[in-house]
Amino acid sequence: MNWLRTFMVGRYGGDQLSIFLLALSIVLTIIARITGISILMIISYFPLFGAVYRMLSKDIQKRSMENYKFAIFVNPVYSRLKKVQDRIKDLKTHKYYRCTKCKTMLRVPKGIGKILITCPKCKDQSIKKT
Ligand SMILES: [Zn+2]
Repeated sequence: MNWLRTFMVGRYGGDQLSIFLLALSIVLTIIARITGISILMIISYFPLFGAVYRMLSKDIQKRSMENYKFAIFVNPVYSRLKKVQDRIKDLKTHKYYRCTKCKTMLRVPKGIGKILITCPKCKDQSIKKT
């Protein structure tokens, strides 16, 4: 493995974008196999080559910038998924209401009975049963 270490000196290596490209390539390959669309098989090589090119690239600054842009692009998607995941996690302990005035999501503990909910954003109050 020493030759690999020497080979990778000064090269960019792997990052989130490269992993995403590899995963995309694998997914496309699987879809191509299942559906039998040969053009998709050829297309699936592009993200793979892209990932390998990025890992072996010596232009570290440019590759970091690409990864940074990718992270910014992915962040809204990721944060939305995280919100859904959080809601599923405390489905039994909390209830969610949307503020009638400003549409902010309000999280309140479950099983307390009638409570007065005050929106932290617009201070609008409403009585809800939890
Ligand atoms: Zn509100």
